[in-house]
Amino acid sequence: MTSLRFKAVAASFKKSPVAVTTPQERPSEYFAKYVFTKEKMYKYLSLSTYNKYLQAIEEGTPLTMEVADAIAAAMKQWAIDHGATHCTHWFQPLTEGTAEKHDAFVEHDNKGGMIENFDGKSLVQQEPDASSFPNGGIRSTFEARGYSAWDPSSPVFILGDTLMIPTVFVAYTGEALDYKAPLKKSLAAIDKAASLVARYFDDKVTHVQANLGWEQEYFLIDADLYNARPDLVLTGRTLMGHDSAKNQQMDDHYFGAIPERVANFMRDLEIRALELGIPCKTRHNEVAPNQFELAPIFEECNLAVDHNMLLMSLMKNIARRHGFRCLLHEKPFAGVNGSGKHCNWSLTTDTGVLLHAPGRTAEETLRFITFTVATLMGVYRHNGLLKASIMSATNSHRLGANEAPPAIISSFLGSQVSALLDKVAQSTNEEIFTMEGKHGVKLDIPQIPEIFIDNTDRNRTSSFAFTGNRFEFRAAGSSANCASAMIVLNTAVAEALTDFSQRVDALIAKGEEKISALLTVLREDIKTCSPIIFDGNGYSDEWKAEAERRGLDCETSCPLIFDRYSDDDTVRMFESQGVMKRAELLARNEIKWETYFKKIQIESRILGDLSMNHIIPVATAYQTVLVDNVMKIRQTFNTADADRLTSYNITLIEKIDKHTRFIVEQVDAMVQARKRANKIESERERAIAYHDEVAPYLQEIRYHIDKLELIVEDERWTLPKYREMLFIR
Ligand code: ADP
Ligand code: MG
Repeated sequence: MTSLRFKAVAASFKKSPVAVTTPQERPSEYFAKYVFTKEKMYKYLSLSTYNKYLQAIEEGTPLTMEVADAIAAAMKQWAIDHGATHCTHWFQPLTEGTAEKHDAFVEHDNKGGMIENFDGKSLVQQEPDASSFPNGGIRSTFEARGYSAWDPSSPVFILGDTLMIPTVFVAYTGEALDYKAPLKKSLAAIDKAASLVARYFDDKVTHVQANLGWEQEYFLIDADLYNARPDLVLTGRTLMGHDSAKNQQMDDHYFGAIPERVANFMRDLEIRALELGIPCKTRHNEVAPNQFELAPIFEECNLAVDHNMLLMSLMKNIARRHGFRCLLHEKPFAGVNGSGKHCNWSLTTDTGVLLHAPGRTAEETLRFITFTVATLMGVYRHNGLLKASIMSATNSHRLGANEAPPAIISSFLGSQVSALLDKVAQSTNEEIFTMEGKHGVKLDIPQIPEIFIDNTDRNRTSSFAFTGNRFEFRAAGSSANCASAMIVLNTAVAEALTDFSQRVDALIAKGEEKISALLTVLREDIKTCSPIIFDGNGYSDEWKAEAERRGLDCETSCPLIFDRYSDDDTVRMFESQGVMKRAELLARNEIKWETYFKKIQIESRILGDLSMNHIIPVATAYQTVLVDNVMKIRQTFNTADADRLTSYNITLIEKIDKHTRFIVEQVDAMVQARKRANKIESERERAIAYHDEVAPYLQEIRYHIDKLELIVEDERWTLPKYREMLFIR
């Protein structure tokens, strides 16, 4: 009998690259081919409807049903012209991924036939019977059903035969049941707060937009090998597997040549993504073998989140077409790097000014300092919450390990920006300062130096790094919905900006001159937020101790980190900015704890199964072969020779015994721990029990399995090994 492993390895050898059908046109021509862009709306709608639509997205004015009907009719026409037969509201529930429920465009024509129909009502609002989506008790508490409502700011698109309509998903009583609703509120909050502050510098500013440019890391694995690993199939990661002798130590994968099978997958993915309006820009190999990254050009935050969700599902589907599986788990393989999703975040105004770019003029520099300090204030005040926003059972494998940012949020600014802030902090309003370095120029307006940012001193160990014209939040996990992090970041910065403008206005009201008032408040804030600024090595033990002294959140237990969502500071922040209410925050935490424990529970179950059905039988069978060998030698040779000849195999027999016994005992103890945890009623306490009492067994059991993998004859091992899974041929 050939094991599934060998069949899978053989099959993976035989695969040849899947050809890609490349469009005849250039990317600029097929970009957004399947998106109902403003340009297309303009063509399909009457001018007055189009203008009302624009007003709705720009000013937030509600759409009348008449306008919605007209838009729906145009959408339907465009969709049918492009081969669509169905439509769906597309939303982002609090599970992973996206949800959809397709309806055909058809309707009875009352003459015995069918017509294609799609009206404004179905566009604007639907009631998916989505009662199984997690709601953390909101539904029962409020006896409310959930409905999905169109988000006109994110364009509809066609995927296959279906018109996809981005929507929020909320309870009838208004509580959000998804990521998009609070994200949009957080964007409105930062727009409002940042516009007030931006007007200190330019009174023409009416809107401030938050931008997001994500960098999606992922692994590819051959589909046959994936299917031969039940742990990967069920949990997204390998729960066992000894290090491959060669993995990433040669650094030969990073930015290396891309194998043809993978290159074809990437090309296919990019073409499909571009057709759907995702502005793919960068692709490259990542650090670990079989690890890659895709990054688009940054976009408005809400659209960027939708595009990331869409891209993740495209990746999974297109990988299958190429005989791969795409792994978005943060740590599919132990011993090599995991995958993150850097979130590059910035603010821009409608007057086209990039807020984070250090200025050419003194005023631009002061504006840059203002927004940088407000960002740092938000991150400082809510550093624990920001960590909670990216924490999950899967991402916790990455954070704190020596590869991703540490499980402490801090900000790297680089020497020039740090020096600039120090100078402002120590200055008096009368002083004129100049900057060091060849780019430093003396200023016309006193107080503010013009600086030139050459941000080459990048610090990869920082979780929140300033990178020239944006902040890069590096702690988000590869599988996450980046909305979770963006909701917290936008709201925290909105709160800091609100607080800032209130204090500045108070000083101005007392007669202080504007620039002077700005500087006075900035000086206070630079001192307040200084504990969050750290330019050193985030991996070092000294930093952990130092961060503790600075009062930064150093908690590492995932279920306890979630507590930050119900802190008074958090609730005050979300409520004052109109983003979420206490009940919503509490409900969300129930879901987080539940998801956490379920993930560990599944991992623990499958590890128990594989231990008892694969590992122990295989190891015991091999042990029997060794025992047989020992017996035969003893029958053949005299005692002295037999002792000598069997000594090695006897050591192996004993080792196998030691490891198998340990595994059996530990699996049993793990099952008992699970049973105890399952009896706990409270979601929080149960998640804690799974973290403290169950999860540690996963690591311990794995250690012994991985030892057995090295001992047991290769032919007998049933599960694909790391060296087979990690290298695409
Ligand atoms: P690196 O890996 O060095 O961080 P990449 O080129 O892989 O750089 O990714 C940079 C990401 O930052 C891209 O997604 C890009 O769109 C995004 N980005 C660049 N400028 C901004 C900005 N001003 N605001 C937000 N995102 C930005
Ligand atoms: Mg990056």
